[in-house]
Amino acid sequence: MNNGMYIDGEWIGAHRFETMPVDNPATGERIGDIPVGGALEAKMAIDAAARAFRDWAGRTAADRGAYLMKLYRLMLEHEEELASCITLEMGKPLKEARGEVRYAASFLEWYAEEGKRVCGETIPSSHPNKRIVTLRQPVGVVGAITPWNFPAAMLTRKLAPALAAGCPIVIKPSEWTPFTAIKLMELVERAEFPPGTVNLVLGDAAAIGGEFMGNEKVKKISFTGSTRVGKLLMEQGAKQVKKLSLELGGHAPMIVLDDADLALAVREVIASKFRNAGQACICGNRVYVQSGVYDRFVALLAEETLKLKVGDGFDADTDIGPLINSAALEKVERQVKDAVAKGATVLTGGVGPEGEGSCFYPPTILTNADESMLVMREETFGPVAPIRKFHADEEAIRLANDTPYGLAAYVFSGSVSRGMRVVEQLEYGIVGWNDGLPSTAQAPFGGMKESGIGREGGREGIACYLETKYVSIGI
Ligand code: NAP
Repeated sequence: MNNGMYIDGEWIGAHRFETMPVDNPATGERIGDIPVGGALEAKMAIDAAARAFRDWAGRTAADRGAYLMKLYRLMLEHEEELASCITLEMGKPLKEARGEVRYAASFLEWYAEEGKRVCGETIPSSHPNKRIVTLRQPVGVVGAITPWNFPAAMLTRKLAPALAAGCPIVIKPSEWTPFTAIKLMELVERAEFPPGTVNLVLGDAAAIGGEFMGNEKVKKISFTGSTRVGKLLMEQGAKQVKKLSLELGGHAPMIVLDDADLALAVREVIASKFRNAGQACICGNRVYVQSGVYDRFVALLAEETLKLKVGDGFDADTDIGPLINSAALEKVERQVKDAVAKGATVLTGGVGPEGEGSCFYPPTILTNADESMLVMREETFGPVAPIRKFHADEEAIRLANDTPYGLAAYVFSGSVSRGMRVVEQLEYGIVGWNDGLPSTAQAPFGGMKESGIGREGGREGIACYLETKYVSIGI
């Protein structure tokens, strides 16, 4: 497997000649090694991007869009290869990985078009001898840092709008999933993007991130990952007032009202909670069910959850793959033990993995959950669904909003007026109403409160790569 960094249109190793291993979380086997790049490689990539800026920004939107469409088609042609790589290095079932590749590619197609609709304005002046126009121009070199849980989609969700806007990009993927990013760079090379427009740096996150934040040639940072690292980048960015987009952690409530279609609610809660083994920023973290339907909902959810098969993502009938690593497993186990010690009942799962080094955890339902439990407050990032009973709609809204996070929330209700009232009061950037899978390229994705700053996807997703310049013309 190719294991280099992609800088200025060339494949290179690290100057330090150090490597780090990448393992398959399903088997513990070594997939390969990657070079450990640092500040030096980040600087080389930033310099290359800065050199590429003028040419790339000066092209027409249609020209840039044509490159994006070429990459889009290449991604679809290589769907199986990319999906296998995702499953191999982070464990999600192959069928989900194929879906991720198509979702990742959809950002390229959408922004290939959206780039053509970046428009300025003419604004009526207060003086007969003046005219006011606005120009929208690319912000400059972008530093992008992406997580491991959607290694293709989180990358293209930044790359596509940045390139469409006219900004070259330097990408640092997670050390857990570098090979998906490398495969995407191979396709970037085949799409013949001009050297320096797309660059990939691998290795030491703090050193590479430090160079991104301290280098004045980087005009914009787009980060997806934990709230902890997001806050660190905000502090580092303050010195240069660096423009930041932050897509951070979540703790999504799922509210099932007593007029919900229960079969639909169960289906969507399972899709949201157990997809990617619960390792999605918008996946449901806690479930609130109204008293009148509580027993029926819990019984149905348990029945459907018991049908889910845990296993290697390459097995065709696997629904839930492994967690990314042993630290993730320990966190899930700690939260479940804490909940049980505080009075939760384990309805399904709840038993740790068999065998040393295994990262698998079964889909787990906990009833009698309450706010004293870690699982109801800390991001779980695992297949655990704690359920709490509520009585009045207002109680569910209060409990749902009682968190520093504000990324995604879900409500299940058959009533337009009741559902809408709940939606309006939820302090979240994304609400799925009778929908557990709201992500799509054309919608603005992002969080309120400590879940982030800015939006990715849709029209808002390109705006953060553009500056507005106001020109006052005396005539
Ligand atoms: P993470 O630990 O914050 O890592 C995210 C990225 O930041 C990785 O590339 C990581 O590199 C890098 N990083 C780590 N320390 C850094 C530093 N000091 N300076 C610069 N970069 C640094 O998060 P994760 O565990 O990969 O991802 C899970 C988190 O991401 C969850 O909290 C999840 O909710 C969130 N997430 C949010 C969204 C969203 O759209 N809001 C989407 C997906 C995931 P290494 O991996 O190489 O250390």
